[in-house]
Amino acid sequence: MPTYVYQCTSCGKEFENTHGMSKEPEVLCPECGARAERRITGGAGFIMKSGDSVESCCGIDSPCKDPKRCCER
Ligand SMILES: [Zn+2]
Repeated sequence: MPTYVYQCTSCGKEFENTHGMSKEPEVLCPECGARAERRITGGAGFIMKSGDSVESCCGIDSPCKDPKRCCER
């Protein structure tokens, strides 16, 4: 599952949320309960997590069948 970064629209808190690429669930801030929006980090936003490098796709918001190659230029 890819990891996305969300930011609260109320208090500005950033947090990570993991869900399927095809779903766009409503995510609520764990701090204040307000609605949070997904942050688009772009190509530079590379989320590195040990043991999870295969499934994360550079933090970009597009479907990718091959995450490893997707991260290459
Ligand atoms: Zn909040």
